[in-house]
Amino acid sequence: MDINNLRREIENVTAEIFSLVGKRFVLSREIAKAKMKMGLPVEDVDAERKLKETISEKCKSYNIDLNFGLRLLNMLVEESKRIQESLTEKTKEKMRFSAPYEVFAKTKEMERKGKALIHLEVGEPDFGPPESVKEAVKNAIKRGYTRYTETPGIPQLREKIASTISEKFQTDVSPEQVIVTVGGRHAVFLAITSILSPGEEAIIFEPAWPAYKDCIKSVQAKPVRISGKLENDWEPNINALLQNINKSTKMIILNSPNNPTGKIISGDVLEQIVEIAKENNLFILSDEVYHNFAFEPFKSILEFSDCKYIYADSFSKTFGMTGFRIGYAISDTETIKGMVKLQNLSLTSVPEFVQHAAIAALDSVEEVRKYMKKIKRRLAVLCDALDKLPLSYYKPDGGFYVFPKLHSESLDAQTFVEKLLTEKGVCVTPGTAFGEGYRNFFRISACQPEEKLLEATKRIGELLK
Ligand code: PLP
Repeated sequence: MDINNLRREIENVTAEIFSLVGKRFVLSREIAKAKMKMGLPVEDVDAERKLKETISEKCKSYNIDLNFGLRLLNMLVEESKRIQESLTEKTKEKMRFSAPYEVFAKTKEMERKGKALIHLEVGEPDFGPPESVKEAVKNAIKRGYTRYTETPGIPQLREKIASTISEKFQTDVSPEQVIVTVGGRHAVFLAITSILSPGEEAIIFEPAWPAYKDCIKSVQAKPVRISGKLENDWEPNINALLQNINKSTKMIILNSPNNPTGKIISGDVLEQIVEIAKENNLFILSDEVYHNFAFEPFKSILEFSDCKYIYADSFSKTFGMTGFRIGYAISDTETIKGMVKLQNLSLTSVPEFVQHAAIAALDSVEEVRKYMKKIKRRLAVLCDALDKLPLSYYKPDGGFYVFPKLHSESLDAQTFVEKLLTEKGVCVTPGTAFGEGYRNFFRISACQPEEKLLEATKRIGELLK
């Protein structure tokens, strides 16, 4: 056959594929309507699993690479979900007040109108940075450290991070394994976007910081969510992890100490997860931004050097430096190179004087100890007060937060959180921000003084009467 005929034929086949994709989207809209009528959620894990089985068979019989087939399927399924979500009024209603930034916008509006609020919705410590860090910023600017720097960070800071972390976790991190980023958030973003391709999968244990799933979706990859349960002390479900791994899986995301639950993953469980990741050649992205606020024994992913990992950390929480916007990631040098490329593309480097301030921060060992004790004490005071209310929760092993569950099934946390804000002037975050299954939960941040925590708990109690 001549090449022109072949080209015409491939064009026809491609057009046919697109006509079928169009038909699939029409069907998706029909399914959305049916789901709305029946009150069903958009996501249907069983239907997806069945579809995956069918397509795996088809890949075999048509001699299509399974990895490619499953990625293509994920892209189709995710697009269908997007279509269905945009049609489902109920979802819009559900999202009305669930994202933290929406709560933030609402509180700002109330404050502009003169209402005094107690802010327990953000994980931003009230203590601010140590004096030595403020001095270091001033000195750095005076000395002219106000220019672009090397994209992965200035050598002195990368060295300091490598030695501090190596000492803390009894490991051997080299400066080339470090990238300095704009907060822990950008460390997470770079990790996810440099590793995942469209249609690939990353596993998240929920409840979880919402940025993980949003970053995964931003590269048209698929977040695979495993729901944790309060009744199981928020233990990661290892069986569910095994069941959800397939050819498209690239990454497992961990966050310990956890936002929002306060759970620390035990050394044993972490070891099991590392073994599973190794057997399946998966990356572990371990977000450990709260590791300096561990009140129980804590193991880092860095203590398991023989697996593929990306460790994410931040200066925001440990040193009260949220507004400095500085964090870092540690991984093997090749992975770091991939992240550096993306960082170079998106923002050149972290401001030079901020990096100098970070060097000073790493020396403030005493302040970090004080901050940790302060948060631990606040969480204890908060838990004592919550114990007297009709709520269940896991006593945090670390981190900044408590994640209580309302006893009343008839009151969903979204309504409760809205009432708490508008009637009692207390801001907390609804559980739905951390996963769909947490409609009866809300998150309280212990980043305010004890008096405020106690006053807020009193008002929570009034609303629960
Ligand atoms: N990871 C977790 C679990 C968080 O809760 C946060 C912030 O709340 C971050 C990362 C990122 O913080 P930052 O970008 O301020 O370092």
